Amino acid sequence: MSDVIEFEKKGSIGVIIINNPPANALSFAVVKGIGQRITECMEDNDCVGAVVTGAGKMFVAGADISEFNVPRPADVPELEDVIKAIEDAPKPVIAAVNGLALGGGLELAMGCHYRLGAPKIVVGQPEVKLGLIPGGGGTQRLPRLAGVAKALEMIVEGEPINAQDALDHGVIDGVVEEDIVARAITFAEEKAVSGEAPRATGKVEDKIGDFDAGIFAEWRDKTLPKTKGQDAPGECINCIEVATNKPFAEGLKHERRVFVELRDGKKSKGMRHMFFAERSVAKIPDIGRDIVPMDINKAAIIGSGTMGGGIAMNFANAGIPVVVVDVAQDALDTGLGKVESNYAGSVSRGRLTQEKMNDRMGLIRGTTDYADIADADIVIEAVFENMDLKKQIFGELDKICKPETILASNTSTLDINEIAEATGRPGKVCGTHFFSPANVMKLLENVRTEKASKETITTIMKLAGTLRKIGVLVGVGDGFVGNRMLHVAARVAEFMVEEGAMPWQVDKVVTDYGFPMGPFQLNDLAGIDVRHAIRQEQMKLYGDRRQSVVLESIYQTGRYGQKTNGGWYTYEGGSRKGTPEPEIEAMILKTSEEMGVERREFSDVEILERYLYAIINTGAMVLEEGLAIRPSDIDVIWNFGYGFPRYWGGPMFAADLIGLPKILDKVSELHGEYGDWLKPSPLLKSLAEEDKGFGDFKG
Ligand code: NAD
Repeated sequence: MSDVIEFEKKGSIGVIIINNPPANALSFAVVKGIGQRITECMEDNDCVGAVVTGAGKMFVAGADISEFNVPRPADVPELEDVIKAIEDAPKPVIAAVNGLALGGGLELAMGCHYRLGAPKIVVGQPEVKLGLIPGGGGTQRLPRLAGVAKALEMIVEGEPINAQDALDHGVIDGVVEEDIVARAITFAEEKAVSGEAPRATGKVEDKIGDFDAGIFAEWRDKTLPKTKGQDAPGECINCIEVATNKPFAEGLKHERRVFVELRDGKKSKGMRHMFFAERSVAKIPDIGRDIVPMDINKAAIIGSGTMGGGIAMNFANAGIPVVVVDVAQDALDTGLGKVESNYAGSVSRGRLTQEKMNDRMGLIRGTTDYADIADADIVIEAVFENMDLKKQIFGELDKICKPETILASNTSTLDINEIAEATGRPGKVCGTHFFSPANVMKLLENVRTEKASKETITTIMKLAGTLRKIGVLVGVGDGFVGNRMLHVAARVAEFMVEEGAMPWQVDKVVTDYGFPMGPFQLNDLAGIDVRHAIRQEQMKLYGDRRQSVVLESIYQTGRYGQKTNGGWYTYEGGSRKGTPEPEIEAMILKTSEEMGVERREFSDVEILERYLYAIINTGAMVLEEGLAIRPSDIDVIWNFGYGFPRYWGGPMFAADLIGLPKILDKVSELHGEYGDWLKPSPLLKSLAEEDKGFGDFKG
């Protein structure tokens, strides 16, 4: 018998304890063990009932998703068959839900005849977040216990509920303050002597007959547009509807078929990949647990502009006092005024209380005197993008701040190694590259400089979590990881426009793939002048490469994007939704003509391939240059920084599904057209030739 299941006989009740740390996940061994112990209890004449519970603080946090890609051994039953066996058992089986019960954990509990919960439990069906539906009967049993409306909420949105909510909606039958296993044993004994047949959830019908006729249409209307591209949310709704209009056994079969289809499909694989990718970013190969992060109790920001204000808000939101420095009082007043109105906006939308806003504003202090930040634990510089200015500021900070203070730059393009040399403490200098708007975007590219100490790095990685960001460690290089890749793709998009496509066609292809915005919409949002400035800088670095002419043409029109109510698109009356602009179309045609380019049709497939493969090839370069630790870190950067659709798993995971040989062929072809922007990466080449994927890259 496997050791992940403990079993004790307490009088006439068999107690099955799932002990598979850390999450008591339903691995093959756990499922098999539960099945065996239930059978034993039913066959044992001295046993009148059973209790299922979890060891430690968890009941069961879910299925073991790492086993999803592994064939199930022949002697291991399917989870849903074990759950059905429990439900059909002739003796009462009680779930003593001692802690977290998610996914398969809640399904297991719902298969039991009764459920008791500890006061602090959290239960839910979060499968939709992995591109799945519950596959162990959850879509059929939860509406029977909680009603259709609550089941839709829990399954389609995937958010868990607490003990009181679970009790109020019949998901559990009682909350037990005292020893829950002891109470469950007594409860099982009481049920056994009562003589009543154990209550099978599948036979409970009253709640599935009582719901609002329009409820399914209502959920489709509100869910499907905002989950465009995903299959699971719609299938969750369908399955719950089936629970209301088909017999239970048929409903289970339907659910199973859909679950297997989704599980084996690309989109759920992409979402499962992202789940693991997010959890691995914090692991830095050469930094172990012995390196203790510094405490960050006081922070300072230099510059109260677009980024400085947003970064200051992150600290205040996390309860850390922060001093913001700017050169002049008026700049400071403007910057802090924006912070205040930002918070006020959240208060008026009901997302923040006035009291919390006051607390947070109370943690932010403005000054024009650098001496006020001498005791900060970290200083983040966010002044204009100018090397001389930044070096001068770092030199000054080095003199003023205490020796332990970490000095970080928010630069998007400058060489932080060079900035570090302006100080006498290069081991304490690093980059913290926030994304705009800094108070909203979850991504933080933490930049490891050549001389940064391990303590500095571990401190900023921990800080990312404190500020509720996803911190990904990157190396110093042009545009670090995300922007370096974006800028190549944006340039390829501009080349396509010079050669025959229109910006709105490119944007539609890219948004149909699942991005929230296409490259030209993004350019209008970030500012055409900003992108033009980057182009000018890049011309210095890569002067011999093809540069976008159409970008120069639009820049000359003075249409800088949303901020001027027009860029590639026109934004009527301050609207954020642009409409294609005939004048721009004419400008594009003229630019092509002046370039001597004969315009041609671009198919949607061709546009997508060129855009995506530019991202992927540059990602491969970033990896081989050691700027990212692992391919999945790049996937996280693209999901959180640029809205790469989670269900495609990020560019590097998507590349593996497409197949690297196909990508290499296309990139090699484009290399001829676009020159070194799309020079095939040696890493892409070698992996493709060995018939491997980025998933095989070991650094
Ligand atoms: P910004 O122009 O909005 O703000 C810069 C602020 O710095 C101004 O308030 C200015 O008065 C202040 N400043 C200038 N010199 C100073 C000095 N010596 N001491 C104190 N304050 C001084 O700029 P921004 O958009 O917030 O960008 C700041 C940095 O963040 C840049 O390095 C930029 O590359 C980087 N960045 C910007 C974005 C973005 O989308 N805006 C995104 C990521 C990173």
